[in-house]
Amino acid sequence: MPADKLPAIEELSVFAGVRDWIFDLDDTLYPPESGVFKAVMHRIRAYTARVTGASGEDAAALQRNYAARYGTTLRGLMEEHGVDPVEFLADVHAVDRSALAPDAGLAEALSRLPGRKFILTSGTHAHVSETLARLAIADRFDGVFDIADAGYLPKPAEATYAAFLDRFGVEPAAAAMFEDSPRNLAVPRALGMRTVLVVGRQAPQPMPQVSDFVTANLPAFLAGVADALSG
Ligand SMILES: [Mg+2]
Repeated sequence: MPADKLPAIEELSVFAGVRDWIFDLDDTLYPPESGVFKAVMHRIRAYTARVTGASGEDAAALQRNYAARYGTTLRGLMEEHGVDPVEFLADVHAVDRSALAPDAGLAEALSRLPGRKFILTSGTHAHVSETLARLAIADRFDGVFDIADAGYLPKPAEATYAAFLDRFGVEPAAAAMFEDSPRNLAVPRALGMRTVLVVGRQAPQPMPQVSDFVTANLPAFLAGVADALSG
């Protein structure tokens, strides 16, 4: 099914029984087309270049290598170069968020979902606050679990999901996870969560089957789920 088409109501009824709704932040709660996370990635590459002394393509290749091997570039820079995570995170999140505007559709859909809503991110509490304020959805969430809460061990580490579930008393069988990164959905799916891959408008078709659903329009998808659950 194309990512911009809404599944049928009967299909969305698998969300019945979900009490906790878990969202990634970057490129999930706002679209990749905003350029915000691209700007973060740009700063991550620049930081990697400064710390490692690599330049240009070498720095970019090193950054990709760390992200692939350690889950995030930060973890690689901590392990191999002793980088201070607090300083790194403050630097890379100093980005322009002015492309983000209040998302009334998302705000309304989030309020209509029964149960608690959480953010599970490899960013920081400060980045979450500033981004949610721009989107005008800050008051829709019951809790945020950031990379410091995860002991700087990023998704998709099993221990990080376990720590999150434990912190908020979330039952995976009664939870749903929304993410733009396919590899971050494998553990939630194996734990029994409903999983939704959130993709940009440029997403390749067909998508690999890593989740129960794929959507290119999160607000419309969530509104469809709320309709299915109230109908
Ligand atoms: Mg993301």
